[in-house]
Amino acid sequence: MLSKAFAVDQSLSVGNSALFTAALPEPNIEQLAGNRHRYWYWYKKLTDETSRKSELLPHLIAWEVTRSCKLNCKHCRAAAQSRVYENELSTEQCFAVLDNVAGFARPIIILTGGEPMLRDDIYDIARHGHELGLRMVMAPCGMLIDELAISKMHEAGIQCISISLDGATAESHDSFRGTSGAFASAMTAIEVARKNHMPFQINTTITRHNISEVEKIMHLAENLGAITFNPFLLVPTGRGVELADQELSPQQYEQTLHWLNRQRDSIKIQMRVTCAPHYQRIIRQHPVEGATDATGLKPADHPGSASTKATESHSHSSHGAFRAGCMGGKSFAFISHVGKVQICGFLETEAGDLLENGLDFEAIWKNSPLFRAIRDVDHYRGKCGYCEYRRLCGGCRARAFAITGDYLESEPFCVYEPQAKPRKSR
Ligand code: SF4
Ligand code: SF4
Repeated sequence: MLSKAFAVDQSLSVGNSALFTAALPEPNIEQLAGNRHRYWYWYKKLTDETSRKSELLPHLIAWEVTRSCKLNCKHCRAAAQSRVYENELSTEQCFAVLDNVAGFARPIIILTGGEPMLRDDIYDIARHGHELGLRMVMAPCGMLIDELAISKMHEAGIQCISISLDGATAESHDSFRGTSGAFASAMTAIEVARKNHMPFQINTTITRHNISEVEKIMHLAENLGAITFNPFLLVPTGRGVELADQELSPQQYEQTLHWLNRQRDSIKIQMRVTCAPHYQRIIRQHPVEGATDATGLKPADHPGSASTKATESHSHSSHGAFRAGCMGGKSFAFISHVGKVQICGFLETEAGDLLENGLDFEAIWKNSPLFRAIRDVDHYRGKCGYCEYRRLCGGCRARAFAITGDYLESEPFCVYEPQAKPRKSR
């Protein structure tokens, strides 16, 4: 009974039992048997340690395997173009990065771009990660998806794809994507994925351009058979800088997040609101009866409540990779097409260079001063540094950087005034 309980618990150790067991003296199960108090002391110590250690691990890595792309989307973070980019990682270098990552963590790897399908070796890269036990998913643009491509994805171990819909009609989607026929291509890709049992999620970048269509897009995602509707609030970087006038105002932003929160009890598929960290504040300020978010997170009353504390302690758990507000640098990282590591694709500040450090992602993840600063939410500047929601939310560091030039500054699109008071000695 006792050893079974330990076995079950160790299986929850975020794919890194070696790390966590090495950090603790091994409890002697035989000696502990028969002593319930000592057993539960060790049980709690192990689980607490697991939880603490897991916070240091990446749970999600978006990897821009190429920057080349045939589309010309107005909001493109990478300002990707239809050309060959110099110094992209070779197949062998990609394998080495995956080997390094799998050596210390088990994150989901999003193969993204640009258009990841433009790489000849994309299925070899996916297969290599899959064989290492990493969960491989892909974010293609949709135009190259056909039955053969889906069959190759299945064979390479791709478990899910995302397809973008930024308008509910061809007119609005094509205008935003800057390419005539993009909506039709997305619909074809969705149909092919559905028919061939490839799970897919719908990503939607919300701007003033499509704010009036978000409800329609959400229902379209449900009706098309998506597993997740993934609304994303525009971050004005890359080509998105030119869309600054398309960005929602802070008030519209707040209203939109409230509206999304209210949809949680009616939407029939998962909804994962991305890169809108203060959504995590809103779901706690305004619990929706009976609703759970995409991660199964129950809304809590207020920071400091028992339920919120429980949620906080799990907010970066392996199953909660999506529970935190801004995950960048905390449980999420981005690798650029030339091997630069960033907290996310929207904050173009380099944490380290894989081509310069021998493809050692782990060293950058653990030692980069940028990642360490981002994880230290108590030292964010302005109201984000003392807000009672700072551990759950933290504000968008990329928006702070885009607007103020300082990634530790307050989130410029948050209208909330913290109840907590600024600390005197900072
Ligand atoms: S800084 Fe955080 S919230 Fe902002 S875009 Fe990056 S990951 Fe998303
Ligand atoms: S003040 Fe900062 S930490 Fe607090 S809710 Fe707003 S963005 Fe989040």
